[in-house]
Amino acid sequence: MLTLDKFYIDGAWVDPASDATMPIMNPATAAQIGTVSMGNSTDVDRAVAAAKRAFETFSMTSKEERLALLYKLRVETKARLGDLAAAMTSEMGAPATMSLEVQADSGLGHLEDFIKALEAMEEEEVLPNGDIITREPIGVCGLITPWNWPINQIALKVIPALATGATCVLKPSEHTPISAQIYAEIVEAAGYPAGVFNLVQGGGPSVGSAMSQHPDIDMMSFTGSTRAGTAVSRDAASDIKRVTLELGGKSPNLVFADADLPKRVTESVEGCFYNTGQSCNAPTRLLVERSCYEEVLGLAKTAGEAQKVGDPAQPGDHIGPLFDKIQYDRVQAMIQVGIDEGAKLLVGGLGKPEGPEDGWFVKPTIFYDVDHDMRISREEIFGPVLVITPFDSEEEAITLANDTEYGLAAYVQSGDEARVSRVVRRLRAGTIQINGRGPDYGSPFGGYKQSGNGREGGVFGLEDYLEVKVRPPFAL
Ligand code: NDP
Repeated sequence: MLTLDKFYIDGAWVDPASDATMPIMNPATAAQIGTVSMGNSTDVDRAVAAAKRAFETFSMTSKEERLALLYKLRVETKARLGDLAAAMTSEMGAPATMSLEVQADSGLGHLEDFIKALEAMEEEEVLPNGDIITREPIGVCGLITPWNWPINQIALKVIPALATGATCVLKPSEHTPISAQIYAEIVEAAGYPAGVFNLVQGGGPSVGSAMSQHPDIDMMSFTGSTRAGTAVSRDAASDIKRVTLELGGKSPNLVFADADLPKRVTESVEGCFYNTGQSCNAPTRLLVERSCYEEVLGLAKTAGEAQKVGDPAQPGDHIGPLFDKIQYDRVQAMIQVGIDEGAKLLVGGLGKPEGPEDGWFVKPTIFYDVDHDMRISREEIFGPVLVITPFDSEEEAITLANDTEYGLAAYVQSGDEARVSRVVRRLRAGTIQINGRGPDYGSPFGGYKQSGNGREGGVFGLEDYLEVKVRPPFAL
């Protein structure tokens, strides 16, 4: 049984202010695997004070000094990829192969591209009017991350803070504390000065809210639900902190009859089920041109039935369980909503799949003939549940795609380049994937509308953590 009973504050592993703890659960077995200490506002005060002190000197470091630290961070991250992957498999059920090759690897992938972005970034810029721009770190950053892509989200927030000369306090999801603790050990091993990076474990409404309200935090970066993102924005409003939000999605996937249907439909179904559907940018609404609707239903049924569900500790390309009972109950409730609304089941449905008996496994599920106004077509389900809706024209496809409160991602499957550029131009979403190909590490990730604001990754991700200062050239 693992005991996480220290927080990383001011360069040391320290005792939390209270003795409150929470069990850490393995979603594949529903068994307890450890205990994590739960922080409170006293821990936040200590961490913020350390980050504020460290900012005095760390913000004055040169780009070369910060790059040297990032190169060390790269060495230490590489050395712990296996540990990060094993932690995510046991705490949130990411299947072993995917946990290593994608979940853990994202910590390295994002780091490489933040390094490239920082290497290329000019420290001074002269405007056409002769004035001089400098970019400076924003200050102390509060970073709140979710459980679905634990290291991906930590990397997207911690690395740009470290790269720009900002300092930070990280509060990971209380459900995925093990990978976060390992990440703190990685930062420590890289040799960052005391107070530059701090880790406080604990709950959102307690530790997270204390951070968002803290007068000495200059910026909050949050990824999670729209509900919690709204709370962070409200808490941060009193002292006008900068707030960047990466929230939910209900991303449309437009399938035109001129696409390579067998390949594109199979990959679309697999893409929706990936990470057991627990991705903010999952392609969850398959919008299909009516002339190929029947063919697509056949292909989707084959792909859906072929989706394996299994023990995340085993290697392979199966999907694992949902990350906890609350999420399991949520997904079951939404499948029931779909049935009650009159959508037709193509694959899956209520209950657990055959095989694993314990744990929060669900059946990969596909609904078809889904009316766009049904709740299963409008609300984020965050499980392996795909809805299929036909359309009659390109215009209708664009209208359906954009008729959502979200705008994180959109997907287009078509063999016609002119059509793809026409459609992409009109999609109201921050990230577009075309024929199975999405943007790479280093490209900006973020959403329109209620999917959030700000962009994470690469040079855009660095800019979120920078202030702009302008001055005239020196003259007497
Ligand atoms: P939350 O938004 O509650 O969790 C994400 C993070 O926010 C966690 O670290 C959480 O803390 C923290 N948090 C929660 N409330 C507050 C608050 N008032 N102030 C500051 N931080 C807070 O997501 P849930 O786990 O409840 O998941 C609910 C739904 O949210 C999912 O079904 C999915 O639809 C969506 N979601 C979207 C994600 C995305 O990537 N965009 C990621 C996760 C969820 P803690 O949990 O530790 O208490």
